[in-house]
Amino acid sequence: MSKRDYYEILGVSRNASIEEIKSAYRKLAMKYHPDRNPGNKEAEEKFKEATEAYEVLSDPEKRERYDRFGHEGLRSGYDYHTYTSIDDIFSAFSDIFGGFGSSIFDDFFGTSTRSRRTRAVSIGERGSDLKIRLALTLEEIATGVEKTIKLKKYIPCKHCDGSGAKPGSGYKTCPNCNGTGEIRQVSRSFLGQFINISTCSNCGGSGRIIAEKCNVCMGEGRIQGEETIQIKVPAGVENGNYIPLIGKGNAGRRGGEPGDLIIVIEEKQHELFERKNDDVHYNLLISFPEAVLGTKVEVPTLYGMESLKIEPGTQPGTRIKLPGKGIPHLNQFGKGDQIVIVNIYVPDNINSKEKSLLKELLQSENIKPKNHTKKPKDFFTRVKDAFS
Ligand SMILES: [Zn+2]
Ligand SMILES: [Zn+2]
Repeated sequence: MSKRDYYEILGVSRNASIEEIKSAYRKLAMKYHPDRNPGNKEAEEKFKEATEAYEVLSDPEKRERYDRFGHEGLRSGYDYHTYTSIDDIFSAFSDIFGGFGSSIFDDFFGTSTRSRRTRAVSIGERGSDLKIRLALTLEEIATGVEKTIKLKKYIPCKHCDGSGAKPGSGYKTCPNCNGTGEIRQVSRSFLGQFINISTCSNCGGSGRIIAEKCNVCMGEGRIQGEETIQIKVPAGVENGNYIPLIGKGNAGRRGGEPGDLIIVIEEKQHELFERKNDDVHYNLLISFPEAVLGTKVEVPTLYGMESLKIEPGTQPGTRIKLPGKGIPHLNQFGKGDQIVIVNIYVPDNINSKEKSLLKELLQSENIKPKNHTKKPKDFFTRVKDAFS
């Protein structure tokens, strides 16, 4: 089988920097890591392939040789080895996975020393993530809020401490790999003997399986249950924002890591206000005489009532700003405003006395508009444009 091009494997250009090569390899390693793809042969092959490519391209001398002579250049004089186990790969590349890198692997695969040790006696499988919608009122969004929810999910089985094994029953040697945790395949070629070692899928590489299953969780290490969860929502969130709660998802199987809980924010429709980014719009209806004479009104805001002065001669559609009465900016200082949009109330049900008053008013000189629209010329030009 002919080997693929190392640059192609890592998906980088031929003049990629060492940083680009490192980051490309790290991404592939995360994706195809056997811990994340248990029993997946193809993923394992991809992982090894990427590792080999990285080993060559991250070494200036080997890279130069490869650039000039291709795979052949590495064969002559250089013995590049195939890794026998995943742990070997990690120790060989401690420079990119070590230091801050070790925490990357802890985060992504749960392969910290602690869970590695746990893996020696169990076949943990990460619990799934959960997603829930949290509906909030604008008032709650304006101030920020703490919510308590009860969540149905998988929780660790207390009877077996999440292991899935019947307490006291212990473990027995995995019959598939005879306790080695590895499956060896030997192949011969003219270059010599290759030993391909892969993780045993029956025991997940631990070499041991549960001797007797816990009879509460049937060997799963988790049961269906309920958890009460506190969620702290900061002020200023909006529809579609989400809050991840790490480790609050479903419990893992047989001691595996728990999944995450993703809180998706949903904004409830408000009966008075409409949110526009961090501003809040409010429609205010006043009577025609109030618009003419001016008045003082009380308007609701998210933070209580505010008194507002309406100037004499206020036109319909006038916008009055109440600074700082909107929604706080998320994770920033400051707040949006409340915009009060003034409109004139037109009654559709009046008595005879009101009718005669209005008729009398109509005789008055200043009550009728001089034109039926404020800018008749503009209006007709625009209509004409639309048809020409
Ligand atoms: Zn149990
Ligand atoms: Zn096994």
